[in-house]
Amino acid sequence: MKSYRKELWFDVPTRRAFIHITPQVQECLRESGVREGLCLVNAMHITASVFINDNESGLHEDYEKWLESLAPHEPISQYKHNLTGEDNGDAHLKRQIMGREVVVAVTDGALDFGPWERIFYGEFDGRRRKRVLVKIIGE
Ligand code: ZN
Repeated sequence: MKSYRKELWFDVPTRRAFIHITPQVQECLRESGVREGLCLVNAMHITASVFINDNESGLHEDYEKWLESLAPHEPISQYKHNLTGEDNGDAHLKRQIMGREVVVAVTDGALDFGPWERIFYGEFDGRRRKRVLVKIIGE
């Protein structure tokens, strides 16, 4: 069995952003040489997400609005977590609902997506370097 591991680094200049990372994951799959197996992609930080959905900008604006209505960043005093001196209580909650990781089947050397599925990195507390892990196993 082949096993491949790579960290993708991001340094998002804004607090929040959604970044399409399917091309980077496909490049990892090419490097791995795996034709049949599984590809795991997970955020390595508890204020960021990896998720699969449509690559459509209106949807991403809808996510931003929806997440802000569920867990507004301000006022930061509304979160007990921020009593630690941090200001990212909202980002932990946003990460929880958008998820930590995705697993995609690898079939015939390609990510075996449904028709509109694409992989995204969701940043909720950016302006610093953060990582995504790609792990691919198979034959
Ligand atoms: Zn925190």
